[in-house]
Amino acid sequence: MRVGAHISSAGGPEKVFARAEQIGAEAIQLFVSPPQQWRSPKIGEEVVAEFRKEDKRLGLPVFFHGIYLINLGTQDEKLLHRSIGSLQQYVEWAGILGVEGTIFHVGSHKGAGFAAVKEQICLAMLQVLEAADNESMLLIENNAGQGNGIGSTFSEIGEIIRGCDGHPRIGVCLDTCHAFAMGYDITQREGCELAMTEFDQEIGLDRLRAVHANDSKMPLGGVRDRHENIGDGHMGIEGFKVILSHAAFREVPLLLEVPGIEGDGPDRENVNRLKLIREEVGAQGVDGL
Ligand SMILES: [Zn+2]
Repeated sequence: MRVGAHISSAGGPEKVFARAEQIGAEAIQLFVSPPQQWRSPKIGEEVVAEFRKEDKRLGLPVFFHGIYLINLGTQDEKLLHRSIGSLQQYVEWAGILGVEGTIFHVGSHKGAGFAAVKEQICLAMLQVLEAADNESMLLIENNAGQGNGIGSTFSEIGEIIRGCDGHPRIGVCLDTCHAFAMGYDITQREGCELAMTEFDQEIGLDRLRAVHANDSKMPLGGVRDRHENIGDGHMGIEGFKVILSHAAFREVPLLLEVPGIEGDGPDRENVNRLKLIREEVGAQGVDGL
């Protein structure tokens, strides 16, 4: 079980590795373009070479997070088209840079209902994977259930994957805060067992490729996406002990997306908190210790 984090790619994607090292992160997530803009990533050859060199030096699993503007459930043709284009670019860059996958939010159906947009979502995802023909994965992130968000339940995510004929390059990133806000009580042994059994039945545990490890400012079932530092929210240290001791998470990299103690995002303190919990529950670290 690796303890990783979202790392700032300010100044270039190749800069994430040294920053990850500084906070002791064992897996990396980054944006390869500004997440609030449609601007496509422009990455020069030297940056690719440096990124691959650094990646090889540290040997950490690396993931992209797609931009926030993406909505595959939209009724707006232009927005759908741009969303597909953005994901294609990310998945293409993932192949070029040797990144494992692109984690993204499917979007919102804005009241139309999931059933009305499901087919469109599946077609869009298949279009992305076809255009970006490499080994990298497209990873659906569960959401907190606010604003008609798609993929807040494991059954909806499962339906999307089946709608894509179980494409082998589609996986899932489970956000602990979003699941908790959606009412999955993964902080209690019984609740965690129930949730992960449901995950296995609806999606399949082999599709779980990354975890966003975030505590929650909102209580269980609060249906809002408010990340908190590990141990400082409603999930708590004990809650994370339950999660990290569940077999479903043993081989899956954890990626922090927490506000940080100083408010600058994932930091050494949050990494250390998770590592300590990992140690206490007797889960294996990166060296198999
Ligand atoms: Zn997340």
